[in-house]
Amino acid sequence: MSQSAIIIGSGIGGLSLGIRLQSLGFQTTILEKLDAPGGRAYVRRVSADGSRILNPLETDPNGVFTFDMGPTVITVPHFIEELFSLEVGKSNLELPDYPASVLGDDKRIKTGFSSGENTSKYVKLVPILPFYRIYFDDGSHFDYDGDPESTVRQIRQLAPEDLQGYERFHTDARAIFERGFLELGYTHFGDVGTMLKVVPDLIKLDAVRTLFSFTKKYFTSDKMRQVFSFETLLVGGNPLAVPAIYAMIHFVEKTWGIHFAMGGTGALVKAFVQKFEELGGSIRYNSEVSSINIEHKTARGVSLANGENLSANLVVSNGDYANTHLKLIDAKHRFWNADARVKLTQQSMSLFVIYFGFKSDNLELDLQHHNIILGPRYEELLKDIFGRKILAKDFSQYLHVPTLTDPSLAPEGHHAAYTLVPVPHNGSRLDWDLLGEPFSNKILGFLEDRGFIPGLIDRLVHKSFITPDYFEGTLNSYLGNAFGPEPMLVQSAYFRPHNRSQDVKNFYMVGAGAQPGGGTPSVMMSAKMTARLIKEDFK
Ligand SMILES: Cc1cc2nc3c(=O)[nH]c(=O)nc-3n(C[C@H](O)[C@H](O)[C@H](O)COP(=O)(O)OP(=O)(O)OC[C@H]3O[C@@H](n4cnc5c(N)ncnc54)[C@H](O)[C@@H]3O)c2cc1C
Repeated sequence: MSQSAIIIGSGIGGLSLGIRLQSLGFQTTILEKLDAPGGRAYVRRVSADGSRILNPLETDPNGVFTFDMGPTVITVPHFIEELFSLEVGKSNLELPDYPASVLGDDKRIKTGFSSGENTSKYVKLVPILPFYRIYFDDGSHFDYDGDPESTVRQIRQLAPEDLQGYERFHTDARAIFERGFLELGYTHFGDVGTMLKVVPDLIKLDAVRTLFSFTKKYFTSDKMRQVFSFETLLVGGNPLAVPAIYAMIHFVEKTWGIHFAMGGTGALVKAFVQKFEELGGSIRYNSEVSSINIEHKTARGVSLANGENLSANLVVSNGDYANTHLKLIDAKHRFWNADARVKLTQQSMSLFVIYFGFKSDNLELDLQHHNIILGPRYEELLKDIFGRKILAKDFSQYLHVPTLTDPSLAPEGHHAAYTLVPVPHNGSRLDWDLLGEPFSNKILGFLEDRGFIPGLIDRLVHKSFITPDYFEGTLNSYLGNAFGPEPMLVQSAYFRPHNRSQDVKNFYMVGAGAQPGGGTPSVMMSAKMTARLIKEDFK
């Protein structure tokens, strides 16, 4: 008889692990609190007149605004392709130094856009160019597209003094990418020994200093320092605190490009659910887990908030790390210092995200699909968000306009967009019931006043927003963190929550709360690492 597994949560990490466990022969059930899958990648659908948020099964004959609520920048398409290629009995868990999937026939790393044969049976991925447009507060901008020639041309215009520095940065970031991502990416740091083995290399690569100070070695202009350090914010990392190993993000994007799933990231999530179910897995929505049942220090199953008990040979939490340990595991089963460990963990920042639909008639938008709009301050703003935990007067934002690529995401004659502003997590005690509405008006007003979306307020058909309270209350994230434990040196690798529990047998973690960290490629890696541990434990 096959062994059974329960996964708590249907985020991208939970779904990826579900696919992998089915391919390993485990009968897997995913239990999801919400009424639809995706977690941070949940989809908000709104009626054509903008007045109503629809439930997952509802439609509107006049069209629907489709808002991906979370991830929009899809990188590393071969991770996705690998998941769609799995079958029962074909689990693909081998880990050569350089994964075969990234090497071409000549054994060199394949670069460029690729959707993948198996992926295209389920979802259409398209390249996005430029990757990002980065607007500076003085109105100038930088289109980052990974092409060395266009990068050099723009640096020559904006900061000619940094041309040489860019060449050196490029070489050193590549070395970090090769060691940190290609060779060590899938390493589960379950013991100190594994960690100690890699430290000398990281020191040699100068990858343990903070990313921002790393960029300062190569660039003198503030603009270039921002361009080559902001990306970690998309995975919850403060450029002033994440180790420079995160310079690899720049290279990951450059190597395999940035993609968009037609129909939105929600279409990718739907495709993962389809794949999981085709392999025989089952998924239950509106099923919040209230506790993990443990006997003799071994996970035996879970209890749901409705009182139902389900048993399984192993349990995995894809939910928030702190919430899982503090709320789902009874105190008597926690390791003696588990609570302190959880509470001492620094949580990542939170987000204020506005989803908005607007009329597009006679409107020429001078925007790209992904736009980073930086405010007047960089370092001090980051200190306000991560350190001082105050809501500053100024802000930076990431404006996503997917209808520039896929007009089907809005009713005809409209755009659907979201704009995301990093804010402190709920350790700040900010009252979002009071702050939310004026803050959303200020941000949309800024987009209109600065000419990003002319006439936006008159054109607006729908506006709704989420605050740190959504992350805390709806997604069960401790202090309303948006990305799990903050990726800092002292919370990375061995120091990040382990994918195999150290306290409870047959209990595992997958996703942004575990190793290697947050972001969609990382949570897919996390699923592969967790599947390997489970395979080892259940030989
Ligand atoms: C606004 C936003 C934008 C982002 N943009 C990008 C991007 O462009 N590119 C990128 O790579 N990354 C991005 N990220 C990060 C990325 O979305 C996340 O790191 C990743 O999706 C997290 O996936 P996960 O598997 O860890 O789980 P999550 O998505 O956190 O899902 C966890 C699931 O567990 C469920 N759950 C929790 N507790 C319980 C319980 N007790 N019972 C049952 N279910 C429970 C939750 O409802 C949720 O569905 C973004 C994140 C946000 C918030």
